[in-house]
Amino acid sequence: MVDKQARRIAEFIEPLRVEPGSHVDLAKDFDPRYKARVKKRDGAELLRTGVGLLAEYQAKLAAQDSYGVLFCLQAIDAGGKDGTIRHVMSGVNPQGVHVSSFKVPSAEELDHDYLWRYAQRLPARGDIAIFNRSHYEEVLVVRVHPENLDRQRLPEEAKGRDVWTHRYRAINDWERYLCENGFKVVKIFLNLSEEEQRTRFLKRIDLPEKNWKFSAADVRERERWDDYQRAFSEMLSATSTPWAPWYVVPADRKWFARICAAAVLVHTLMEIDPRYPTVGKKARKELRAVRRQLEDEAPAGAARDPYAAEHRPGRGKERP
Ligand code: AMP
Ligand code: MG
Repeated sequence: MVDKQARRIAEFIEPLRVEPGSHVDLAKDFDPRYKARVKKRDGAELLRTGVGLLAEYQAKLAAQDSYGVLFCLQAIDAGGKDGTIRHVMSGVNPQGVHVSSFKVPSAEELDHDYLWRYAQRLPARGDIAIFNRSHYEEVLVVRVHPENLDRQRLPEEAKGRDVWTHRYRAINDWERYLCENGFKVVKIFLNLSEEEQRTRFLKRIDLPEKNWKFSAADVRERERWDDYQRAFSEMLSATSTPWAPWYVVPADRKWFARICAAAVLVHTLMEIDPRYPTVGKKARKELRAVRRQLEDEAPAGAARDPYAAEHRPGRGKERP
């Protein structure tokens, strides 16, 4: 049953996966409106299943306390990162999950190497860390607007023509290091069409409760659409690796994007296959001894073991 479900999920996300080593042309290779023949009316139920599985696996991940998961979300403005996080993580225990959003770097952050601020937000063992924007901004917005690179004050020899190739390599190495230490890196790119972005911007202007999400700067970024698409394509080609592949999630339909994001995350957790720790013979013997002691402490008239009395009739009877 679990195997069958795991196989179905693996098949579902397979078309979204960027084959390591392949050359990606985003516009040609991935359709923002793809929906794998799923009907919208089945969408809510599918997402519920995904959210339920995530909660179950996250509880085991935390209990096992051995692996950690880093979930990176990248997208163009209005791509749906916030909503995806809100919906997909709605069922999990907040104790085991933390979200970090990365904005324009602070002076302190600019004073360090470019991976420094991301390294501070990595998950602990047993945890899921979500990056709302991630270290990939370092080869996206920084590339499209090179003045960001100037602000990083790199020494002359570190900012030649090879700077992006070096960054891809460093990022791949960093993720490999994390993976080899038990931290799985899951990467999702929400792929939005230009027309759907226009529609979402208009909605942000039309609806007062969405105004805060919109800034005139977003429209200026939109003018650089083609540059961003090129930077995305190159990033996907260079940094989809066997240890941390990219998944390109069609983002024009929010409901479908959320199902895909949940499926990719569940798939990763199923691969980790975390288990609740079990106790050995000696520890179980100790538990039985403590149990007898606790039963003996029952006050007169109370069940020796109220839990057993309720759940296993005939056991844990009353103390005279
Ligand atoms: P938002 O996610 O809408 O709150 O916007 C955050 C802004 O921070 C976006 O415009 C990003 O392009 C920008 N940003 C994120 N990371 C970097 C970075 N490393 N360098 C420069 N700008 C960044
Ligand atoms: Mg924004």
